[in-house]
Amino acid sequence: MSENVAYTDAYARQLDAVVVEVDADTNAVLLDQTVFYPGGGGQPADTGLLVGASGGSWSVTGAKKRDDEIWHTIEAGSELPAPDTKVSAEIDWDRRHQLMRTHTALHILCGVVWRDHRASVTGGNMEPLSGRMDFEFETMSGDLVGEIEKRVNAEIAADREILVSILPREEAFAIPDLIRTRINLLPEGITEIRTIEIVGLDLQADGGTHVARTSEVGLVRVTGYESKGRINKRIRIEVTDAGA
Ligand SMILES: [Zn+2]
Repeated sequence: MSENVAYTDAYARQLDAVVVEVDADTNAVLLDQTVFYPGGGGQPADTGLLVGASGGSWSVTGAKKRDDEIWHTIEAGSELPAPDTKVSAEIDWDRRHQLMRTHTALHILCGVVWRDHRASVTGGNMEPLSGRMDFEFETMSGDLVGEIEKRVNAEIAADREILVSILPREEAFAIPDLIRTRINLLPEGITEIRTIEIVGLDLQADGGTHVARTSEVGLVRVTGYESKGRINKRIRIEVTDAGA
């Protein structure tokens, strides 16, 4: 299993790695370790570059998890590096950091809506600096989303700390908040559960990348809301720089 630093250090932008295997069919490369997030939980995979220690570079258009390993998709038309090639693996940091801010904004939204309305999440998705989340809400109005937006930005201003932990399965199952986020849907074989805690607001089982404090998100604006069914309402958000 190749190690992925993104799960323990979201701020790692680069690391030195060795090509372990190449797959000509999918134009993909497996490294002994990586910083690329392979996508999941609504967060898109990283893009970036592999720079050869003795020359050459390969553009990475995405990454994908296959079993426990993360494969890097190389831009179509370029020749793959040979196995044993030493490379510097570098993610497109600006894009990743935008995704970390957006992903964290969605957790704050989710935490506020659960705390104040006891409405749980049914789905979500994101792009850099925009995202959407579906909640079990019967009714939604412009006044209500305006109020939610205000309270989300208050949590950002509160500069709450965000902690990543890896817990044994049994310990994670004992946390009521995690059970609400459908931790029980995790496959039997998983022995450790990664949790993201916005201290004082929200706790979730999660595989994505997040910023270290809520203030780093910037500003959240609700850009729209719509009904996706009788008890399913969608909220769309946009993330901007603070002061913008
Ligand atoms: Zn998350």
